[in-house]
Amino acid sequence: MNKYIEYIRNLKETDLYRKIKYLESVQAPNVYFEGKKILLLASNSYLGLCENKEMKNAAIDAINAFGVGSGGSRLTTGSNILHKKLEDKLSELKKCERSLVFSTGYATNIGIIQALANKDTVVFCDRLNHASIFDGIKLSCAKLVLYKHLDLNDLTKKIKKYKVENSILITDGVFSMDGDIAPLKEIIEITKRNNILSIVDDAHGLGVLGKTGSGICEYFDVKPDLIMGTLSKAASSEGGYVCGDEELIEYLIHKARSFIYSTAPSPITTAVSICALDLIKGMNFERDELLNKSKFVREKLKEANINIIDGITPIIPIIIGEAKRAVEISNRLLDNNIFIPAIRPPTVKEGTSRLRLSLMATHSYEDLEFAIKKICEVINE
Ligand SMILES: *Cc1c(COP(=O)(O)O)cnc(C)c1O
Repeated sequence: MNKYIEYIRNLKETDLYRKIKYLESVQAPNVYFEGKKILLLASNSYLGLCENKEMKNAAIDAINAFGVGSGGSRLTTGSNILHKKLEDKLSELKKCERSLVFSTGYATNIGIIQALANKDTVVFCDRLNHASIFDGIKLSCAKLVLYKHLDLNDLTKKIKKYKVENSILITDGVFSMDGDIAPLKEIIEITKRNNILSIVDDAHGLGVLGKTGSGICEYFDVKPDLIMGTLSKAASSEGGYVCGDEELIEYLIHKARSFIYSTAPSPITTAVSICALDLIKGMNFERDELLNKSKFVREKLKEANINIIDGITPIIPIIIGEAKRAVEISNRLLDNNIFIPAIRPPTVKEGTSRLRLSLMATHSYEDLEFAIKKICEVINE
């Protein structure tokens, strides 16, 4: 017991202690948070769908038609026609033969990697991939080969050195803590040439990137073997998914333990996800707004010599360095009614603690200008 108490004490001493904070209203640009009204610059609901009326009505209609819980796992009695409908819509949106829905994106990654890889598999993995990918690799007992973030030379070298018959490459499309994107055209070409199974995690791409909001693969016009993602970010619902060829999806149905041994997503979240996919296709205006606002904030911060990681996505990391300083700045901004969380180790590397700003299409330019001004003041004071 002592070692657990010690662990927490140590976190408190090194500014790595985390406290759960509670929102008191719908996730939107302006929210009630910890007892006061603040500007939220930290939502994954990029298109503002958490407060969308059609989404809310989809949930209410689903409750009236199908009740609340799913009542079983996907392979027993938990699957209902809403899951089928959602999977068909995903296949259409991602231009794949078949799709499979899991309870979360996390469960999807651990499930598909555990199913596809074993101790004889080598998994090539960008250093900054999402934690769920690393957990899936651990669970599979495969050999993990890391390559430098976005570095095609390093990837090619590592493939030459470590490739075996069963090799898999996994990369985030948009990197969740850095907001930059993988060069998928080149990566997919390399995997095809080397006969390596490719998986792209499109958690932050759906709804945001591509002409119809299909995500990073539409943006780059590429087709990896599997595209996985989550319905919890721009889609503002919950649930994970994977899309690919019929045979691979059939295999996952029989082998992915987080799919088999877990309760099916509820009819409520499933109906909300269906509604989100319908809406996302038509949200070109919001997508343009989101990307234009991201560009605006990035440019203003750069002009003010704030150290951001460059990119095009609505995830804008402001690199601070030490955890303590990042927390201080985040707290000072909260004093000014702005919430931008400090991201610290172990989520990011030591010495790269940061403020992680993320935008919604529904933020006003006025709010953004206010935030930029305060960020500059607080960082430079
Ligand atoms: C959020 C996220 C996940 C996990 O999805 P959940 O549905 O929240 O479990 C997986 N991969 C990436 C890159 C993510 O950002």
